[in-house]
Amino acid sequence: MRIAGADEGICFNPRVVRGFVAFSRVVGALLVACALAIFLATAVLGTDAREALPWTDATPRLNSALAFLLAGCALLLCRVAPKLSVGLSLAVAALAGIEVVGHVLQATEYAPDARWLGMDASRRMNELAALAFMLLGLVGAAAIMGRAIWLREALVVIVIGIALASWASWGLVLAGEEANLLRRLPVVTALLLLLLCLGWMSAVPTTGLTRIAVADSLGGAFARRLILPALLLPVLITFSLAMGQSRLGLSQSLLYALTAALTGGVITSMIVWVAFLLDRSERLRRTGAAARTEADTDGLTRLANRRALDGALGRIWRDGEDAQLAVLMLDLDNFKSFNDSFGHQAGDEVLRETAGLLRAAVRPGDLVARYGGEEFVILLPGADAAAARRVGQRVLEAFRANAWPRRPVTISIGAAVRQPGDTPDSLLQRADAALYRSKQDGRDRFTADGPA
Ligand code: GH3
Ligand code: MG
Ligand code: MG
Repeated sequence: MRIAGADEGICFNPRVVRGFVAFSRVVGALLVACALAIFLATAVLGTDAREALPWTDATPRLNSALAFLLAGCALLLCRVAPKLSVGLSLAVAALAGIEVVGHVLQATEYAPDARWLGMDASRRMNELAALAFMLLGLVGAAAIMGRAIWLREALVVIVIGIALASWASWGLVLAGEEANLLRRLPVVTALLLLLLCLGWMSAVPTTGLTRIAVADSLGGAFARRLILPALLLPVLITFSLAMGQSRLGLSQSLLYALTAALTGGVITSMIVWVAFLLDRSERLRRTGAAARTEADTDGLTRLANRRALDGALGRIWRDGEDAQLAVLMLDLDNFKSFNDSFGHQAGDEVLRETAGLLRAAVRPGDLVARYGGEEFVILLPGADAAAARRVGQRVLEAFRANAWPRRPVTISIGAAVRQPGDTPDSLLQRADAALYRSKQDGRDRFTADGPA
């Protein structure tokens, strides 16, 4: 069973994952405790006395209690004894399946008698409880085996729907109205079923729908805060409106207006909240992107800096060794004497002007970087030796043709083309060696790597 870690690039918040798994254990223990309490109450009071209690309609029947006991044990054991846990979950599905068949037969002429398989009514699960248990038994087995994840989630959604419908009916009962649904699914059973659903989803939180709730992202934080309130909201709305009608005597038309206003208000506030979160995350993203750009940019020339060059070379090498790549290494000629004659400020202006000329000489996909003081590197992805030479000559011509304010500035260039087995360093070293030859041969020229 995969629990923590990264899956398809999504990072999970390990603290939240641990919290979800702990929640599933608490649910397991709670279900076992509730089931034992029901068995104990029945043993002490006897079936008939239990049936006479006023809260009997709200509590799980004995077979439901048995199913909760098995499901709770399955939840508790799913990590230490997964096979036993799958067996227990399938037993829940089988027990509930038999009940479902019984209810279907009873609804037809085949079993008109209330007793079925020798079981009396106090023992039998209610119809909806049986259906929900059957689905949840399968959910549990699928969750532990890590199989049929989306089918499992679909079943979970159905059971949550059933449980919430029972809760909404309970809202009506509390408000003093009739609710037939409760006879098909007692409210305590519905609550425990809801917890069992959430327990199974939390037991393997990095799969299925709960993936988003444990994600270490804005979406994750959003899901953790909103999903539960969104689930409970229908119950709350039904309850308050029914209360309004029965206790306060609100008219039908006023109730409709209140329903519309309440629903609209809730949806609008959720949209506003999402909008705030998205806005904040977009601002953070832009600030981060700006900071990254700044970190990759040379302050004086606004060209890519050494860090950006290393990053670009790393990416090119990661993408594969086959693609063509040419590198130009460029160095201003006699720049020290320029600085000495005209001052550092004038030298800086030349460096900025150089950046403009180099940028203008390349295509958008190429990269011009300031490698060091008055040294530059141009990456030409897809270029061969001839293309590298054309770019080099274009740069030399641009420098010769430029109207330099103080004295003509020239540049020397060395070029190398990627060979099989090259590393970024070896390629740059060969371009540097070619640049050295340009200097030695008299400067203001282009030299390609290789035999002279
Ligand atoms: P060569 O033709 O052999 O390259 O001679 P050079 O004088 O250009 O070479 P050298 O490496 O000896 O000098 C580089 C000079 O570049 C030294 C330094 O004053 C200057 N320099 C480096 N960075 C900057 C800068 O940011 N601004 C200015 N103005 N000058 C710089
Ligand atoms: Mg120089
Ligand atoms: Mg130099």
